[in-house]
Amino acid sequence: MKIDGGCHCGYIAYEAEADPAKTYICHCTDCQTLSGSAFRTVIPTREGSFRLRSGELKIYLKTAESGAARPQSFCPNCGTPIYSTTVGEDPKVYVLRLGTVRQRGQFTPKLQLWSRSAQHWVNDISSVPRIEKQPAFTPGGAVGDKP
Ligand SMILES: [Zn+2]
Ligand SMILES: [Zn+2]
Repeated sequence: MKIDGGCHCGYIAYEAEADPAKTYICHCTDCQTLSGSAFRTVIPTREGSFRLRSGELKIYLKTAESGAARPQSFCPNCGTPIYSTTVGEDPKVYVLRLGTVRQRGQFTPKLQLWSRSAQHWVNDISSVPRIEKQPAFTPGGAVGDKP
């Protein structure tokens, strides 16, 4: 399916094609650090379908546990992570960060990778009390503290 998306500040915009059945979660420690979160949810693009429509991405070259170099892109203004990919020329697959995809509500993860390094609480997240929007007081924070 055709998808599009971009970063938080609007500088980066892209379009691509992706199969929602390929959505997955990665619990590896690199994804935890690079996303600043407990895990990362991603969708690989169809090979050769990714097109940057606006902006210029900053690239951070990460070395994977396998020894392979893995370019990680993000917006130079707001820091939103956009994709990881392989080194070399197109056509290639771009693994998009699902939170940047406008149609993300139509993507449900089908697999969890690197579960051995998953945070211990992720399987029980439904038991954590919920508040529909920002509360007046966040736990341990001040009034109006937004994540
Ligand atoms: Zn941005
Ligand atoms: Zn990972």
